[in-house]
Amino acid sequence: MSEHPYSRHSIEGDKKTKWICGCFETVDGFFKFCSNHNDTLKKAIEAQIDELDMTIVVDEKSA
Ligand SMILES: [Zn+2]
Repeated sequence: MSEHPYSRHSIEGDKKTKWICGCFETVDGFFKFCSNHNDTLKKAIEAQIDELDMTIVVDEKSA
């Protein structure tokens, strides 16, 4: 039983791009944002999703 199946201890070694503020992208396309940008970028991504007219699947098993 793993409490944190998605945690990675080796992420430090996998950085591809790191910005001076602390944000970075890993080699496998994972973005980690610093505390300054996390909130802003989350809002920006949500706004983009609205623009893309993506549908949020709330409940798949109600069929
Ligand atoms: Zn940042």
